[in-house]
Amino acid sequence: MTILLLGANLGDRVMTLRRAVDLIVEQVGLVRQQSHMYETAPWGITDQPTYLNQVLAVETELEPEAVLLKTQAIEQALGRVRLEKWGARLIDIDILYYDHRILHTDTLTVPHPYLHLRRFTLAPLAEISPEFTHPILEKTTLELLADCPDESEVTIFNL
Ligand code: ATP
Ligand code: CA
Ligand code: CA
Repeated sequence: MTILLLGANLGDRVMTLRRAVDLIVEQVGLVRQQSHMYETAPWGITDQPTYLNQVLAVETELEPEAVLLKTQAIEQALGRVRLEKWGARLIDIDILYYDHRILHTDTLTVPHPYLHLRRFTLAPLAEISPEFTHPILEKTTLELLADCPDESEVTIFNL
């Protein structure tokens, strides 16, 4: 099982997230759980539109590097143009967890290195995996959320 974070802050955000979920089902594996979409304040570079974020639990037979390649291809297919790090984008797909594995390669760090610092990640993650334990920090999602210093606004997006 891999846990993915989707983000979009340009264009038709709802449509983009839905298309991303469809492509993930086709190319990565079955989506076993999905959070609500959350409207979230931009993080890092705050002078950009608000995001929609969603977390998915995906049952996959692909290895982590292959999940990264597939999700990057899906970003491209949905029209992502890589401009600046943390800047506005049509779609972003990050790998938060891959089972309880710890990976550090040139292209892939799992668990995602910022997940515990971002309310926009922890809030939707807590909806689907409240008791999942971070393999390095050894805390559950609910514990990480309680300890998270990030106070940026995160609300459920009502379709
Ligand atoms: P952040 O990773 O802080 O959320 P970002 O999503 O804006 O920033 P990107 O420009 O989308 O960053 O990705 C930069 C690189 O991060 C990718 O090319 C990829 O190789 C690498 N990367 C490392 N770990 C991960 C991960 N867990 N999930 C997705 N990409 C990762
Ligand atoms: Ca990201
Ligand atoms: Ca990314």
